[in-house]
Amino acid sequence: MSDCIFCKIAAGEIPSKKLYEDDEMLVFLDITPMAPVHYLVIPKKHIQSLLELEEADTALLGRLFFKAQEIAKEKGCEEKGGRFVINAKTDGGQTVDHLHIHFLGGRALGWPPG
Ligand code: AMP
Ligand code: ZN
Repeated sequence: MSDCIFCKIAAGEIPSKKLYEDDEMLVFLDITPMAPVHYLVIPKKHIQSLLELEEADTALLGRLFFKAQEIAKEKGCEEKGGRFVINAKTDGGQTVDHLHIHFLGGRALGWPPG
């Protein structure tokens, strides 16, 4: 989508601090980190939110989560863990309308979210 900031990041039109990239996904640091470890995993394909996921995208979503947990381990979060989050739409607090998994780690996180 031409006006989507994460599509532009995926296309290299907007810079990002990349942790991983392949043909179908990109992992980059969140610009406003909410924890010592905070990165985003996005599909290069524009999917507006988890609520727009199509059945054909289920394997892709699995690969996004697999990569998200691999990088969490690389970042030293295997023992203490962290949080894998997908915000969806208005009530979920989604601010960028391109599906993304947040990983937050490196500190204890409160629950429930405010
Ligand atoms: P959400 O509120 O779940 O839609 O999350 C969007 C996330 O994208 C927020 O945590 C923002 O800090 C992050 N973000 C927005 N613009 C950028 C950018 N240019 N580079 C990296 N992260 C960004
Ligand atoms: Zn997009």
